[in-house]
Amino acid sequence: MNCQLVRRHLDAYLDEELDATPLVEFERHLNKCAECRDQARFSQAVKTTIARDLKNEQAPRSLEIRISRALDGVDGAKIIAFAWGSGRSTVGLIAVAATVLLAIGSILNSDNADTKQASLAANYLPVLSDIVNNHEDQLPTEIQTEVPAQAVNWFRGKLGFRVESPEFNQPQVRLVGARVSYVDNSRAAKLVYNVGDSRITLIAFRPKNDLTQMGGRRERIGKREVTYQTVRGYTVPIIQHNGIAYAFTGDLDQQTMLHLVASAQIR
Ligand SMILES: [Zn+2]
Repeated sequence: MNCQLVRRHLDAYLDEELDATPLVEFERHLNKCAECRDQARFSQAVKTTIARDLKNEQAPRSLEIRISRALDGVDGAKIIAFAWGSGRSTVGLIAVAATVLLAIGSILNSDNADTKQASLAANYLPVLSDIVNNHEDQLPTEIQTEVPAQAVNWFRGKLGFRVESPEFNQPQVRLVGARVSYVDNSRAAKLVYNVGDSRITLIAFRPKNDLTQMGGRRERIGKREVTYQTVRGYTVPIIQHNGIAYAFTGDLDQQTMLHLVASAQIR
């Protein structure tokens, strides 16, 4: 059984409608596939939350109409694009589910933690997803240079904001080049570095939402505190400087990544 098949029948599985034979194969897949497992867990949480909220409500007759009206506001084309776009399916589905939860939550005036978490996810998941996609796409750089100041000069007039020169005080980190990219449908600067045989991507962008509200984990390294998120197995530390976010992704283990970013200077 492959991921696509699993996603298609996830609802039936969660509603305990699968026959014994497909059920065994289904659970075998869930055991070995972390992404489908995450998806199943999230879908289950959505179902539970909605069921609980609907039960708590004293079922006014107008509720059904209000919910369907709210869902009309959710862009159907966008849902399909998100759900079936290559490589984005999990995050896309979560973002869509979060939007639906948000619509229902706002109707019911619900203040439960799941709904709040989902609304946070709706704000930040597209951003985090774009950052990781930028690292994974391996698109060629538009300017090749080892000199950060040269890359920064090259961005002048291309972004609509000023990116400053990020440098690592570590000799094994070498800038490879840069290109214009996108985060959350806005222009972003993408810088690619080599660290030995590994690669690091730095994305600088002007955030639409206050990233300090995003939460995430913090770790103190030397004199600096590094805030980071984990997205699809990547550690994504984010530094803010003069209103611009500098987000790092890399094929490095978490500790190496955090230490590198703690050594970064942005000026
Ligand atoms: Zn899978």
